[in-house]
Amino acid sequence: MAIRDPALAEWLLDSLSSGLVAIDASGVLTGFNPAAKHILGGLAGEPHDWLGSDFRAVLAGRPEVVALLEDALDGRPRPSRAEIVLPGRGATPETTIGFTLLSICDPHGAVRGAAIQFRDLSAYERVGEQMRLRDRLAALGEMAAGLAHELRNPLAGMEVMAGLLKRRLDEGSEAHALVLDLLAQLRVVAGTLDQTLDFVRPVAPEPEAVDVAALLDLAADRACARIDFPGKVEREYAADAPAAAGDAEQLLTAVTDLVVNALEAMDEAPTRWPPRLSLGLQWERRPGHQPPVRVAGRSLRAAADPQERREVVISIADSGPGIPSEIRDRIFYPFFTTKDAGSGVGLAKAQKIVSSHGGSIELESREGEGALFRIRLPAAEGST
Ligand code: ADP
Repeated sequence: MAIRDPALAEWLLDSLSSGLVAIDASGVLTGFNPAAKHILGGLAGEPHDWLGSDFRAVLAGRPEVVALLEDALDGRPRPSRAEIVLPGRGATPETTIGFTLLSICDPHGAVRGAAIQFRDLSAYERVGEQMRLRDRLAALGEMAAGLAHELRNPLAGMEVMAGLLKRRLDEGSEAHALVLDLLAQLRVVAGTLDQTLDFVRPVAPEPEAVDVAALLDLAADRACARIDFPGKVEREYAADAPAAAGDAEQLLTAVTDLVVNALEAMDEAPTRWPPRLSLGLQWERRPGHQPPVRVAGRSLRAAADPQERREVVISIADSGPGIPSEIRDRIFYPFFTTKDAGSGVGLAKAQKIVSSHGGSIELESREGEGALFRIRLPAAEGST
């Protein structure tokens, strides 16, 4: 590549939405763009201060990337394009990156250094996962709706006939008591059918700018009113988090369901005392992040990237038993429950509400260490 102006080359690297880290043959950092810092996360300081340092020291918190660059320098064979998962660090969640490794050669073919160029694939993975889940839920929902419609009429007939029968029987007789039992059971079945139909009915959000911190507090109050919680509620809300674009009532239902689940998990199987509910509110730019472009010492905002969008990230974490890996795939299915008196509707409904808002729900849970649900929602345009 030929670039006449060295400043332009620097701006070019600064403007890339993919990360780029370059080292010379002795392992000294020669290039590190802002997107690389953003994607790798957890690195204190600014990229230009790291230039001239040994890359192993700067990237000590990211040994996976150090290993890749070392192999590239030593000429050890590695696939030049692949994916790796970087574990979560501080506020940066677990991230899958797709990378390309390059050997930097001079015009005579001598290796002068190495570089890694990478992209954050987590957002694409999440979208794929959500689409697969949505398809499965849609198929299940269709089947459930068909079945519920088919059962509704004969069930209504049975309720009418049992009611007629009850009137013909003497109150207090054994037969009368049996018919009362029958009616009660029929009502349970009718309730399940109503819930099914309610679940499969499309959700039509009425979007407005929703104050998420207030929504989280209200959800916690409602959940605590339903389940007595003797533990601590911790709150960590970013003061500059934008409002979410959504239907406040529907989002409140979804978040309250998740908080109720957290309280129930801690109530049924506390793993620490006092139990702890942690509510968090953050925001992120995803994907197509573009750092500011520096021109002649001035910092300008990059031209608006059509793909750039802000996301509000709500987290609900508990100190319950966590979710065993063998059921993790199924907890969002309608009517999946492990509770004696559970309906299995909460998470499926929350999932449906959040995805109808263009958001997603992720689960992070290690058995025995509590569960963490993360809800991502689009930010309301124009909010700070
Ligand atoms: P329900 O609460 O009626 O069982 P949900 O759809 O809300 O229905 O949840 C489905 C299942 O997911 C629960 O039965 C439970 O096994 C699991 N689950 C949900 N949230 C948690 C949590 N915070 N900790 C442990 N397990 C959970």
